Amino acid sequence: MQKTFHRAALIALLSTATLATSLPFQHAQAAPLKIAAVPTSLADQQFQHISQEFLTALWQQDPELAMSAGNFDTAGKLSLPDQATRDAYIAFADRWLQQLARVDGEKLSASALTDLTLMRNYLQGTRWYLSTFREFEWNPSQHNIAGGFDAILNTDFAPKDQRVRLAIRRLQAVPAYYAAAKASIHNPTPEHTRLAIRQSSGALSVLTELEKAAAEQHLNDTEQAALQTGLRNARAAVNGYVQFLSDLEKNLNPATARSFRIGKALYEGKFKADIQSSLSAEQTYQRALLAKEEAHKNMEKLADQLWEKTMGKQVKPADRAQKIAMVIDKLSANHIEASQLYPEIRRQLPLLEKWIRDHDLLNIDAKKPLIVRETPEYERGVTIASIEAPGIFRPQDNTYYNVTPLEGQSPEQIESTLREYNHWVLQILSIHEAIPGHYTQLQHANQSPSMIKTLFGNGAMVEGWAVYSERMMLESGYGGNTPEMWLMYYKWNLRAVCNTILDYSVHVLGMSEADAKDFLVHQAFQTQAEADGKWQRVQYTSVQLTSYFSGYSEILAFREQLKKQQGAQFNLKNFHEQFLSYGSAPVGMIRQLMLKKDSAAL
Ligand code: ZN
Ligand code: ZN
Repeated sequence: MQKTFHRAALIALLSTATLATSLPFQHAQAAPLKIAAVPTSLADQQFQHISQEFLTALWQQDPELAMSAGNFDTAGKLSLPDQATRDAYIAFADRWLQQLARVDGEKLSASALTDLTLMRNYLQGTRWYLSTFREFEWNPSQHNIAGGFDAILNTDFAPKDQRVRLAIRRLQAVPAYYAAAKASIHNPTPEHTRLAIRQSSGALSVLTELEKAAAEQHLNDTEQAALQTGLRNARAAVNGYVQFLSDLEKNLNPATARSFRIGKALYEGKFKADIQSSLSAEQTYQRALLAKEEAHKNMEKLADQLWEKTMGKQVKPADRAQKIAMVIDKLSANHIEASQLYPEIRRQLPLLEKWIRDHDLLNIDAKKPLIVRETPEYERGVTIASIEAPGIFRPQDNTYYNVTPLEGQSPEQIESTLREYNHWVLQILSIHEAIPGHYTQLQHANQSPSMIKTLFGNGAMVEGWAVYSERMMLESGYGGNTPEMWLMYYKWNLRAVCNTILDYSVHVLGMSEADAKDFLVHQAFQTQAEADGKWQRVQYTSVQLTSYFSGYSEILAFREQLKKQQGAQFNLKNFHEQFLSYGSAPVGMIRQLMLKKDSAAL
């Protein structure tokens, strides 16, 4: 469902922007970049030249971002989270914003114009993060060296011995890194401070991993010495940071310490930077409240329809939510055996593909392999499934549909998971992750390859499309239009809706922990365990939880607007094909470009 994507080490957690469904660059070569397809005009060619220069400068400015893009040329350099680095990044953003202001967007093709806007958004967002949001001050868990070392040791961009040498070079800056981190911390939140203390074990284990990897290589004496001294100093630095945070935490007064709730002003700013919606955060929240009410109304009708079939003579409770919950609970017993998880998902994919072809909903490139596999251990998180797509450099590679294996969980946990991903929801999951959700969207995005679009792709568009595709499939009659399928659909859809309500309520309106959990259990029909997990997530992150509903509701509203405007001319497949042809750009931008094209055609 979601993964994190780090914009840069010093702005980390920035986007958690889910972009990462695309997780594009895993095995990419750090080769010269090719941007966009065939240039069509002089203006586009000139702009491509500027984009190339921008990317070259960006890799120098931000080695961690470069690594996440598969470029390890500057990986030996660890960026320090100090004021000098932040000032330099702001100066970089200002310089490039000035340069981009000279580009005449009117002369560009839609694809180039999208790139230009994404670059501007990125630079303005960076400025805002470093000067206004200032998470480096109050979230100590931002400062952690694990990510960079992990990428160097576990990405196959060069022979192992070269990667180990690169890591040893990087290791030398670790003490300076944590010294800068300590100096950056100012009035942190108790929650993020405790999180940072817990997560520091990740930094220590990556150092152990480096030590093991180095033991398998033939290092000369100088390199050995650098390794040993480096490891000793790095471990001391990590432990020193933990000690510093523990002392700090003891003296934090819960009544006066900074709250993890970011408040209205910062929330709107972050929403603007990350989601890039045409609505404000508050408008999106209001829209989610309406969507929740509508879902509940529809679910009640469906529960009434299904009551006798599922509950027999049992008396209906007067409470709407309780009635819906009872029917959902009963239906959830219809699920596969644990051993059938992978075979069942593999069986579904060709059926989904056939459905889309038979109903003329979208083009699907059948040549591109999609492999269902167990989620690699280091990527296993709280979610059951994810899509891992090939990077822009290697579009011929496989796309993986990762599914977390059930083995190792208690029988109760397994039963709970199987009930959650029951007969109906498991199909919706495959729609979301694969066809025509993430897998199909990324396939389309790769048809007009652009480094800029891949790097700065919009998380709300990516998740919004996947969520929209669930509804679109059911509207086309997939699942037989049964009340069971629709009831389960609404329960699933409520997750996205209620994530938005929860995030805004907690961060802006001050919703309490007890109220939040009660809301998730009774309004979104989630289990207590899910609600507990979600409370953890909403304390440490903000805004990202709104991306699913924000993107989805904007796509749906746009489609309905076009339907009205075009009447009998409206063609669903054309709408989908056009919509997906702009890459992972923000929905509002795609909307503008499509409307412009439409009016030009008239
Ligand atoms: Zn998703
Ligand atoms: Zn069961």
